[in-house]
This record gives sequence, C-alpha cells and structure tokens, in this order.
Amino acid sequence: MASYIDFINVGFGEATFIHLEHKNQVLNIFVDTGSDQQANYARDIRRISVRDYLIRQGIKSIDYIFITHFHEDHLSGIKLLLGEVKVEEVVFHLKPTWDRKSMEHVKSFALYHEVINLLEKHQVSYRYIHSHKNHHPEIVFYEYELYILLPILNQLLNFQKYEDMEAAEKEMNQVSMSILLRFRHKNECLITSDIPLEKLEHVSWMLEDCPVLQVPHHGDSNYVDTKMINIINPKWAIVSADAEGTYDLPSGDYCQVIEKLCQAKVLFTESKNSHHQYIRYCVECKKITLLK
Ligand SMILES: [Zn+2]
Ligand SMILES: [Zn+2]
Repeated sequence: MASYIDFINVGFGEATFIHLEHKNQVLNIFVDTGSDQQANYARDIRRISVRDYLIRQGIKSIDYIFITHFHEDHLSGIKLLLGEVKVEEVVFHLKPTWDRKSMEHVKSFALYHEVINLLEKHQVSYRYIHSHKNHHPEIVFYEYELYILLPILNQLLNFQKYEDMEAAEKEMNQVSMSILLRFRHKNECLITSDIPLEKLEHVSWMLEDCPVLQVPHHGDSNYVDTKMINIINPKWAIVSADAEGTYDLPSGDYCQVIEKLCQAKVLFTESKNSHHQYIRYCVECKKITLLK
C-alpha cells in the first residue's frame, strides 16, 4: 500500500499516523497518541485507541512518536503502546525544568513524568529537539521530508519561566509542536495540534499551498485566522474532535467560519452522523477516504 496519513478518531483528543513507503522500506510515525481512557473508547464504537488501531492495521513497530505537548488527550495514549509495540524513538520539544514537587500536582506534568518513567522502564529512547531546526527537515525518507515547526524561541523560553504550574499547563497549547510533511518538495499536510495558526506566522513562507490542514485545537474558531489560512490555502480541513462537543469544541459555527476563510472542505474525525474510525489521506493519489 502507498504512503498515507490517518487522522484517527480517538474521541476527544488527537492522534495522527503517518505511514511512508518507498519500495520495500517503510517508516511509521505517530504524531500524538490520543487518550488512554478506556471509558472514552467504550462510550462510542466509532472510536479506536492507538493500540487497537495498530492491531487492526497489523503494524508492530513505530519509528517515531512526536509529542506535540503534554495535555492528556494528546499524550496519555502512549501508555497503551509502550511494552506492546516496538517504539524506536519518542521526540519532545518541551522539557519541563521546574522542580519536580511543584509539577507533581498538575495533571499534564505528572503525566509527562509518568511517561518518561515508562520510556525508561521499557528502554525506549527519547530526545528533545530545539527551535533552531525549524527550517531543516527533521526526517528525510526518500522523497518525503518531515519538518518540526515550533513557535519562536522567546515564546518557548517564556513558557519555561512560569512559576504557576497551572498557568503553564493552560498555556501549553500556545507552544505546541506542529508537523509539516512534504513529498517531492511540495507541501502535503500540516498538523497544527493545539497551536493557534498565528503562532506559525514566522514560518508562513514554508506553509504556502498545503492541501491537508489538520486545524488547530479541535476546531476552535479562535485558533484560525484569515491571513494564515489564505497562505496555507488548504483543500481539506481536518478537525480532531468528538461528537459530544467536549469543551464546546468544535466551535458551533466552525464549518461556516472555515467556509468564509477559504475553499477547504471540512472533515471531522467524529461528528453526529459519521461512521468512520479514521480519515485517510493518500499522499501519492491526493485522495481522502473515510475508513472503518
Ligand atoms: Zn492541548
Ligand atoms: Zn488538544
């Protein structure tokens, strides 16, 4: 099968699987891993955890897991994978440097430490990348290039300066990692996770005409803006959100908001009448299919 990107219905949260192929070589990448909460999956049969997704696909090893930030709905699903499938490397960009005691009572940071302990227990290597690599691909795999896009350095440094851990937890969306995939030097897909589009303005020259945009923050209309979306000029806007409207997301008028801004067709990982478990974008044929 050719190279594809799957936007998985993990309920409220986000997990994207990138499968790249060249002849008999493959590269398997997760960008975030959704939640590990069993109740979340049990509530709705359209949802699938990252572990069950891999079993269904018959995939036994992952080359990279990129963690965009530590919110539970993006990070905790990794716990379902460790010890179950072979994971070569986990990549972070945020490195909490506060004293551990002050972090322990804050959910996202406690989860981060739990995940680090698990990575060490299972001897999975992990590393932190830095913003200076913005303009160079993090991974080159034949004709594919994967870039990590980060907010400007000052913002990352300011994030480290928070003394109030709850405030840091809240602000974490603003410093999320984004991923850009190119094929034959053309943009294919931008995964923005929970970062507002305006925070990527400093790399806007890299984002021109990108057919698939995973829109920021589960379809939050406050996270998109005219200028950036016009540059990106997406054909498809993929929204990772649930049909229950957790945290009032996606925004009630989200389709209209996007329609006003650009020509993109909006697709939800889960919506009231949806039947699919994941949305697949075929990198070579440029087609989108809804799959169960
Ligand atoms: Zn978040
Ligand atoms: Zn999120």
